[in-house]
Amino acid sequence: MLQTKAYGALDKHSSLTNLEIERRTPNADDVQIQILYCGVCHSDLHTARNEWKSTQYPCVPGHEIVGRVTAIGDKVQHFKIGDLVGVGCMVDSCGTCSSCAEGEEQYCETGFTGTYNGPVFGGENTHGGYSQAIVVKESFVLNIKHSEEQLASVAPLLCAGITLYSPLRHWNAGTNKKVGIVGLGGLGHMGVKLARAMGSHVVLFTTSPSKVEDGKKLGAHEVCVSTDANQMQSYLNQLDLIINTVSVPHDLNAYLQLLKRDGSMVLVGAPEEPHPSPEVFNLIFKRRQLAGSLIGGIAETQEMLDFCAANNIVSEIELVPMDYINTAYERMLKNDVKYRFVIDIKTL
Ligand code: NAP
Ligand code: ZN
Repeated sequence: MLQTKAYGALDKHSSLTNLEIERRTPNADDVQIQILYCGVCHSDLHTARNEWKSTQYPCVPGHEIVGRVTAIGDKVQHFKIGDLVGVGCMVDSCGTCSSCAEGEEQYCETGFTGTYNGPVFGGENTHGGYSQAIVVKESFVLNIKHSEEQLASVAPLLCAGITLYSPLRHWNAGTNKKVGIVGLGGLGHMGVKLARAMGSHVVLFTTSPSKVEDGKKLGAHEVCVSTDANQMQSYLNQLDLIINTVSVPHDLNAYLQLLKRDGSMVLVGAPEEPHPSPEVFNLIFKRRQLAGSLIGGIAETQEMLDFCAANNIVSEIELVPMDYINTAYERMLKNDVKYRFVIDIKTL
């Protein structure tokens, strides 16, 4: 067992604080990683505060992990000590169901094991990246091809990146497609960059007029302030695909009516309370689809990392020390993130 410093929540009301956790001695197929940086996802906040009503305490969040391999088991084939690697939202799955067989481990029929809060589908608790080290099965470890200097900005790709990449690919974003991204936060800013790199015409929808210029710099061809009814009106029936990253319940009709015939809106934001049900006529009259999407499989996550390395895509980050995390959560709730907090784990 490896005694490891960590930072986490003891219950849903208190601030995150210093903790000590144990990591297993690597099994034959395990990789032991010294964590260097960990991104801060809104899901960390939802989980630390038990907003999804499934949190096991103590809870050590963090599923945007990058670091260096410090030990490997005897049967590890693809990694060696010293390699730069990543770990995203999953650390295990059944490996045999049809979803796992098709490389869609996130939809594992018996439930994947989350990098933190593992028991959400049953099983032992797991602790995430707000910690100095982690031990993960080789098949859930990702290879990083970006340069070492970019490492902190690569961390958010492990969740925010893949959560946008996967639906953009699945719903065929690309040239001749008009793609809307709703919300310019951690997920949304990756959506803007990725959809742009895939060749789509990108329209960003934001509630924050202060983010309009940033949205354009990040790659949006157009930015619509969604609180302005006239601006919203000008996009009626225009979009092929919308990816909605908003973390709170809101009126989905406002966006559904912006889709063309046969267009799709994919929800990736996961609010504590449900959205009000959308108006059915907004769907049936134009055969529009409302869908959801969960992160992405391991092979697709590697594909996304390689795509980002080849296209020089990283996240826009604010690097913070570990004990800033409670302030970071409060700022996240005020939409005051540009555009992902990343924890410098050496400050733990
Ligand atoms: P974030 O950085 O806090 O960004 C959320 C964005 O939503 C904000 O920046 C804001 O953008 C917009 N927003 C916030 N409040 C709003 C309101 N009242 N009305 C309209 N827009 C509002 O969060 P994140 O880390 O990107 O995560 C977003 C959501 O996705 C969370 O619920 C998270 O749990 C979920 N998530 C899902 C998956 C998945 O696999 N499906 C994976 C990771 C995260 P503007 O200021 O531009 O309006
Ligand atoms: Zn996440």
